This record gives sequence, structure tokens and C-alpha cells, in this order.
Amino acid sequence: MRLLLVEDDIALGEGVRTGLRTEGYTVDWLHDGVSAVHALLSETFDLLVLDLGLPRLGGIQVLQQLRNSGSSLPVLILTARDDTDDRIAGLDAGADDYLVKPFDLNELKARLRALLRRSAGRPHLLIEHAGVSLDPLTQQVRYKGELVVVTPKEYLLLHELLSQPGKVFTRERLTQLLYGWDEEAESNTLEVHIHHLRKKLFGELIRTVRGIGYLVQS
Ligand code: CA
Repeated sequence: MRLLLVEDDIALGEGVRTGLRTEGYTVDWLHDGVSAVHALLSETFDLLVLDLGLPRLGGIQVLQQLRNSGSSLPVLILTARDDTDDRIAGLDAGADDYLVKPFDLNELKARLRALLRRSAGRPHLLIEHAGVSLDPLTQQVRYKGELVVVTPKEYLLLHELLSQPGKVFTRERLTQLLYGWDEEAESNTLEVHIHHLRKKLFGELIRTVRGIGYLVQS
């Protein structure tokens, strides 16, 4: 699961990012509203955690632009204590849930799990292709009905490739999906994950496009 965190409070942002990474999320963190809109309109995320009081462009405006683009991305907003107006404006602008600062990290994790459960109820999410099926809610993978145990990063990779069979994904894009922008990845890490997936599923599922990246045959 790739999560975008938008928060200008450095101490809070660090805490949330660290806490959510231990839950297996790939966390990208931005500090202002303009960068957030740019990222949301050009990249794919599974969840957004959005502070409302942000430099350059406020969280409400970020949310409005996101929803105006037609996105149904699950969004949890973070609001200051006693700011009821902000909270209501956020929910009106299309937020799915909110937390009031200061909040407990475990509560944030639970709220995000609930958001994912709800968004998994939307019909398009179960992915099946070439005998392989993925359940985004449980992150379980099955091949011909049999459960295949995969790591969170292997799941993320498989989910991306299987969501658009026939499309070539560049190595850069897949590496960014796994590690975000600022997490250091060894240069051959992507190949290692692909190698493991080929052994766990079947070798021909993921094809190498020499010099570019990978695809799953449509
Ligand atoms: Ca703030």
C-alpha cells in the first residue's frame, strides 16, 4: 500500500511516517499543499493522510482539487483541536474520515485499516489474471486457488503489474512504488523481488522487457 502523507509539522510527520512504515505501508511525505496536488494528480496512491493547515495551499483546497479530478482515493484529514469548522469543511470537501491532533498512532493505524476495508468494498478492487488472484483487503495472493505467501513488497509489485496486463512498467516506476522517493533502495532490489515472485508463482508470468522494465502478458 502506497500512502501519501502531507504534513508540515516535522516532528509529527516523522512519527507518523515511521509508525506507518512498520505497518508495511510505503510512505511518501510532502510538506505543502502545492506539492501534494502535483503528486496526487501525477502518481498513484492507495491512501492520503492530509493535514489541513498547510503552507502554500491549504488542505481543503488540496482535497477539492483531488475530488474535482474524479479521484475516489480514501482520505483521512488531520485537524487542530477545537477547529470544528475546519473538520466540517474537510468532510464536506470529500474527506472520508478525520483525526483531531494530538492523536494516538494506534488510532491512526486503526482508522486507516477501516478506510481500506471500506474502499475494498468498492467493486473494482479484486484482481484476477492468468490464474492469479489478488485480494487488496487481505493482501492475499492465490494461484489456481492455492494460497501463495508473499511479502508486502512482493504484493505491491504484483498488484501493480496485474492491475494493467500488457502495460510495460519501467524499472524506475516500480522502484519508486516499492520505496517511495526518499527510502534508499539497493540497485538490484527490484530484480530480487521479481525473482522471488517468479519462483513463488510461475516463471512466465512476469516478462522482462530488456532495458526498460517488466510486464504481465495480457
Ligand atoms: Ca499544519
